[in-house]
Amino acid sequence: MSEVLSHVGAGAGAGVGAGNLTLSLQGIEKIYNRGKPNEIAVLRGASAEIVPGEIVGLIAPSGAGKSTLLHIAGLLDVPDAGEVVINGQVVTGASDRVRTTARRGQVGFVYQFHHLLPEFSAAENIVLPQLAHGVDAAEAEARALDLLARVGMAERASHRPGELSGGEQQRVAFCRSLANKPALMLADEPTGNLDPATSDAVFDVLMDLVRTTGLSALIATHNYELAARMDRVLRLDEGELVPA
Ligand code: ADP
Repeated sequence: MSEVLSHVGAGAGAGVGAGNLTLSLQGIEKIYNRGKPNEIAVLRGASAEIVPGEIVGLIAPSGAGKSTLLHIAGLLDVPDAGEVVINGQVVTGASDRVRTTARRGQVGFVYQFHHLLPEFSAAENIVLPQLAHGVDAAEAEARALDLLARVGMAERASHRPGELSGGEQQRVAFCRSLANKPALMLADEPTGNLDPATSDAVFDVLMDLVRTTGLSALIATHNYELAARMDRVLRLDEGELVPA
């Protein structure tokens, strides 16, 4: 826990209680193609709060707005209305520079596809985001090796992504998402590309990693069995978040 909490910034004047939350989404709205015949109101007042250490599932059919919600929560996109607070810092309306710093330092992303850089080793893929964040090279390498050991990949640190199986690539991607000690992991169908048996095992690794590092996670999945292993599950229903 201390590792995660050590970089929690002072609250920036968030709403009541939001300073104790890893993620607070209040009244998030997102409308695509506003005013055009093909206007789609994807999010219509979605709200959720995630406390430190909590793992929350996000379930909804394809096209319901899961990726849109994760992108807004992870500061890759801006909502049309509503407030996003990460670790007590109000990021809605903040400058691009503040949002980029918050995203790099507080949020780790995992996607369905690993998106590792093919010409770099597993360890280097975890070192690079740390160097971009100003971490010293020796410290970055030590952290990369520690993370790889946690997901059972210590022996594969020098292997390039092309030399790893799909499940192994995804384990490296989990480590990369934690490279800069985020407070929050956002995962979009993290095992969706894997066969069912591999998906199950890799999902166990993900849950262990999140639990042992003490961070919070919001994990989108189509898989109800995987969702049932999380602390709580939310569903997107007509653009709002409701308990599943
Ligand atoms: P999910 O992740 O649940 O499959 P998405 O968030 O990707 O859903 O998409 C929700 C809806 O918004 C879909 O109908 C999609 O076509 C639409 N959409 C997503 N991004 C855009 C965009 N940039 N412009 C217009 N429509 C979009």
